Amino acid sequence: MERRVYLDNAATTMVRPEVVETMNEYFTELYGNPSSIYDFGQKAKKALAGARETVAGLINADVDEIYFTGCGSESDNWAIKGVAEKYCSKGKHIITSKIEHHAILHTCEYLEKNGFEVTYLEVDEYGMVSLDDLNDAIREDTILISIMFANNEIGTIQPIKEIGAIAREKNIFFHTDAVQAFGHVPIDVEEMNIDMLSASAHKIHGPKGVGMLYIKKGIRPENLIHGGAQERKMRAGTENVPGIMGFAKAVEIAGETMEESIGKTTALRDRLMKLIPEKIENAKLNGHPTSRLPGNVNFSFEFIEGESLLLYLDMDGISASSGSACTSGALDPSHVLMAIGLPHEIAHGSLRLSLSDFNTEEDVDYTVEKLVNVVDRLRQMSPLYTGRRK
Ligand code: PLP
Repeated sequence: MERRVYLDNAATTMVRPEVVETMNEYFTELYGNPSSIYDFGQKAKKALAGARETVAGLINADVDEIYFTGCGSESDNWAIKGVAEKYCSKGKHIITSKIEHHAILHTCEYLEKNGFEVTYLEVDEYGMVSLDDLNDAIREDTILISIMFANNEIGTIQPIKEIGAIAREKNIFFHTDAVQAFGHVPIDVEEMNIDMLSASAHKIHGPKGVGMLYIKKGIRPENLIHGGAQERKMRAGTENVPGIMGFAKAVEIAGETMEESIGKTTALRDRLMKLIPEKIENAKLNGHPTSRLPGNVNFSFEFIEGESLLLYLDMDGISASSGSACTSGALDPSHVLMAIGLPHEIAHGSLRLSLSDFNTEEDVDYTVEKLVNVVDRLRQMSPLYTGRRK
């Protein structure tokens, strides 16, 4: 049988069998509407309450601070547009960074067209936001700071607690897009001074189409979806009970296995980070060397075109990404790699490998072996590379 190595877990993950099993029960047996008053509906309502408690527990939030949504993008949109609309009388200035996911960047651009001003903070060569730059960017009319917990392309983890402390001292709301970090690294919203946090189930072996927004008590962004009274009248729409129950199951397992999982994926990540530059010349690691997600590896290979690299690896059964999975398909160089200062041609030759608990050392070694061959083959075809060697 053809070998398949899935190394695109930042794009999406395999749904765990335990999660599928949990969801099945809510598709076929306990399929009542949680808003129905009869017992069958109330059973679903009770299950949702349990799911909310599980999700809240993972980040040290209160159950009343968790709002289920349709995806991480919705959570990001809601946090930003909701605060902007509700608190615009206090000010119309928002601070974010240049390396955010498009769910944040495009939402900010939308707000700019509607009278808001947005400061996009630069990052350093490792993708880190500077606290000094953040302090300098804050104005009298700043109402929101939104900085991602960890970057989806290069894995860099930001100094979230310190950013939150600055925001709190200045009385500014702090939102973090934690879609890549939630369930992968420890998060404590209290200790880290986080006011709002976005997460998504499909990045942690849960189903697609379910997310959540944590909103600290006392903050009330404007509703994004109007309608019924679900999610404490703040996010209308009949709850995706099977999806939410699957999300909660994935959260439960992520919480129970986090320490072990961090140890395992970090070891695989470090093996890739050691072997790739050892075996391939002109390979540059992107992202922070230590403050990075346990499962993220990102390299640029000079004289290579990323899309070709992906296609050749695919022929060897390896699924990877040349940038953000959400933007692959577009041939523009990644805005994240541009923001960390890579020239166009190098940014084009980049590869993201993202690991999960289900990967093995054999997967890593097989990938390195194939990568060495593919990079060599592509470089032999590249006039820039062959020209350089003459
Ligand atoms: N934010 C980040 C950092 C992401 O990586 C992603 C998806 O890749 C999203 C937001 C969007 O999440 P979803 O796919 O659940 O809409």
